[in-house]
Amino acid sequence: MEVHLEAQTDTYPVATAGAPSGRRKPPVDPIELEHRNLRQGEFWRAIPAYRDVDEATFLDHLWQARKSVKNADELLATIEELADPSFIADAREGFKRAPMSVRVSPYAIAAIDWRKPYSDPIRTQFIPVASKLRQDHPRLTLDSLHELDDSPVPGLTHRYVDKALFLPLNTCPVYCRFCTRSYAIGLDTEMVDKVPLAKTPKDWQAAFDYIASRPELEDIVISGGDAYQLPAKNLRLIGDALLDIPHIKRMRFATKGPAIMPMKLLTDTAWVDALAAVVERGRTLGKDVVLHTHFNSPNEITWITQQAIDVLFKRGIVVRNQSVLMRGVNDDPEVMRLLVKRLSYINVHPYYVYMHDMVRGVEELRTSVATSCEIEKFVRGSTAGFNTPLFICDAPGGGGKRDIHSFDYYDRENGIVVYSAPSVKPGQHFIYFDPLDTLSPEAQGRWEDKVTADAMIADAIEQAGGSPTYVPA
Ligand SMILES: *Cc1c(COP(=O)(O)O)cnc(C)c1O
Ligand code: SF4
Repeated sequence: MEVHLEAQTDTYPVATAGAPSGRRKPPVDPIELEHRNLRQGEFWRAIPAYRDVDEATFLDHLWQARKSVKNADELLATIEELADPSFIADAREGFKRAPMSVRVSPYAIAAIDWRKPYSDPIRTQFIPVASKLRQDHPRLTLDSLHELDDSPVPGLTHRYVDKALFLPLNTCPVYCRFCTRSYAIGLDTEMVDKVPLAKTPKDWQAAFDYIASRPELEDIVISGGDAYQLPAKNLRLIGDALLDIPHIKRMRFATKGPAIMPMKLLTDTAWVDALAAVVERGRTLGKDVVLHTHFNSPNEITWITQQAIDVLFKRGIVVRNQSVLMRGVNDDPEVMRLLVKRLSYINVHPYYVYMHDMVRGVEELRTSVATSCEIEKFVRGSTAGFNTPLFICDAPGGGGKRDIHSFDYYDRENGIVVYSAPSVKPGQHFIYFDPLDTLSPEAQGRWEDKVTADAMIADAIEQAGGSPTYVPA
């Protein structure tokens, strides 16, 4: 306030022509308009395997699905001429150690800048390289969100009072290295045996019956796997079954699809019509049905994405985005701001930016809570409030989503962050661990000794006001 009073006593600069009153702003910095600069043209032709692919073919979602590479050898063969042999060897070794199945769309492959594969944000999400892998934090688990603990029937997680997560299938149009649900999604890999989810309309009935039996449920997230993989008739079936339940008021279909295969929205009219039909039927019933998607990098958004999202916009379908904060993908304030502004520009509302879940095998992608706090501060104020995402930590152990700044205690030295969630799990504390390699060598050393580590964790919980004897899950 004082600053403002002082400013008023300043002499104002002489007003120049065209700005008769007030101060004139300097010309806009081009970086402020970069979000409108979408990749144009037939950019895929730079990839040898797609050199002769015309626009109609590249935009065909069936072609994209058919040509998606489904194992490491296929992928490496596609990029062989593009990347140098040492990168290929590094990726080959990376795949051997990865806990995820492989699936990458031609669109995603074409969106990668193969001149700089190591620093490319899309490469980083889908193609592991052994040389970058880091040792896991000693406290990581596979189902870090404990979705299985809050699961009353297969394929349904009921953690919050009025909303539930329905997982009707376990396949995706791509497989992300960082997937939270690597405990269930995709095929079994050399390292991990997957937990079965419900997969057929017959299997889904138990979830529908459960939802119908719980009057407090109003909001269902249909995730997966990925709603892109639902045939149009099953998307309709799920939508109608849920709309038929009187207490269900809100539904969201969640899909990574628009980020890695936007053309489906242009050429799979049956799928778009099924989604639009559920949205419209919902509207007549006074129920809100929207699409949630998952862009992580501004480079994922091209002219094709803009046209694809416009199809949904013109049909009145609201699209929101959930990103994951990842090192080397979007953990830079300028990159995050560009992502947020570019999403807003194509009419996608940025909703959440999650801390990377504490899953195994992707330690080099995680960032610290401090990084998230800094980026949040930078991004807030750069565009409309309703287009400014909430930065959150989905508290490991089932605490649910917490505003990143809302920790009860943060031991920055040892990278221990304590959250509580009074309306989700009253009386409990939930802990997030910063990645080890962001800590000092001394702090890293302390984690090597289990007794010391347990004492550090107990101390952080006590500082947060919790019971010192509380043992984290
Ligand atoms: C994220 C999530 C939801 C939806 O939460 P919102 O904050 O409303 O987006 C519902 N159930 C589970 C288990 C979730 O993880
Ligand atoms: S699309 Fe979603 S559910 Fe599928 S692998 Fe990626 S993050 Fe996991």
